[in-house]
Amino acid sequence: MGKIPVGILGATGMVGQQYIALLEGHPWFEVRYAAASPRSAGKKYAEAVAGRWHQVKTYSDAVGALIVEDANDLSRAVKAVKGGDCAFVFSALEMGKEEIRTLESAYAAAGIPVISNASAHRWTGDVPMLIAEINPHHTDLIPIQRTKRGWDRGFIVVKPNCSIQSYMIPLYALIKAGYAAGRLFVTTLQAVSGAGYPGVPSLDMIDNVVPYIGGEEEKSEQEPLKILGTLKDGGIKNAPAPRISAHCNRVPVSDGHTACVSLEFAGPKPSIDTVKEIWASFTALPQELDLPMAPKRPIILRDEADRPQPRKDRDADKAMAVTVGRIRPCNIFDLRFTCLSHNTVRGAAGGGILNAELLKTKGYLS
Ligand code: NAP
Repeated sequence: MGKIPVGILGATGMVGQQYIALLEGHPWFEVRYAAASPRSAGKKYAEAVAGRWHQVKTYSDAVGALIVEDANDLSRAVKAVKGGDCAFVFSALEMGKEEIRTLESAYAAAGIPVISNASAHRWTGDVPMLIAEINPHHTDLIPIQRTKRGWDRGFIVVKPNCSIQSYMIPLYALIKAGYAAGRLFVTTLQAVSGAGYPGVPSLDMIDNVVPYIGGEEEKSEQEPLKILGTLKDGGIKNAPAPRISAHCNRVPVSDGHTACVSLEFAGPKPSIDTVKEIWASFTALPQELDLPMAPKRPIILRDEADRPQPRKDRDADKAMAVTVGRIRPCNIFDLRFTCLSHNTVRGAAGGGILNAELLKTKGYLS
């Protein structure tokens, strides 16, 4: 069976380039369509990204030769669909929220499934916000979404913010094992690649920490409740807990978001050994299905006193595993730990590809 041809909207950006790199040699998907802003449109992909980001050539000659289209020009994407070059798109666009919302909806209405990294549709009632290990059943909203909007083949699913990836899987593993979370304090230390291209000025970042990332604390506090929510009345009823208080900081790290977490359980409290056992043995549907992008173990435990660290741990298992360490009691709540995930892989393109693999196995992509 041939590979499914895919398109990337925002292909020239930080996340778009990561999609291109991760999809090189993917067993199921092949990049055959690239779109970005009118600034890049009309250029060969290789010319459009020359000099950007890590400046490493991580795309094939075929992708380098693709002519970048204007993502706002839907007729180009429809033509690519008709020509057999695009069965669905990953959206890694960075523009006004309302503009992205309208554009992604237009793609879906034109019959093109959209797997998005943007925040625009995260709070749209019938749009699932997926972490494949946690809420794969939220894909049941897709038929409802299609019926409600009169879409036949198209749909929209989104990925949550990159800041929450490192603590959501550990939190969910504990909840699944019967240890409900009550309250949670989290301080994030977020990499500069999370700010997109061209990013934060170097003079703000060298020898410095910036204790503010616009909108990030609200996302870190609220998105977990939708992900942990239940399907109800054609939408998602948010989980009532945990209550989260987040401090989000930009730090001079290239890739990898770290989170320092203090957690209070709502009911029974596991021992530290039990917590470690639960995390070390946790697997979920992506591992059962052996999806190509899934890490073998979604959570990797480190016993060393000074781990996880971005440089040493962010690339663990295709940069898709969450690394957790410093697991210890908390003097005020019940449990403290430090966790880390790669923001542009697990937190962005890798997570999007994993969602697409899940959707393919469920028959939503072909
Ligand atoms: P980025 O590096 O700034 O890339 C933005 C992309 O959008 C580029 O391809 C750009 O094209 C395109 N674009 C900009 N304005 C446009 C317009 N008016 N019309 C069409 N395309 C336009 O941003 P990023 O960091 O990759 O983030 C992409 C999305 O993923 C954002 O929504 C972001 O919130 C989300 N996200 C990012 C991360 C992360 O760690 N970076 C993690 C999770 C989610 P040009 O190159 O032609 O300007």
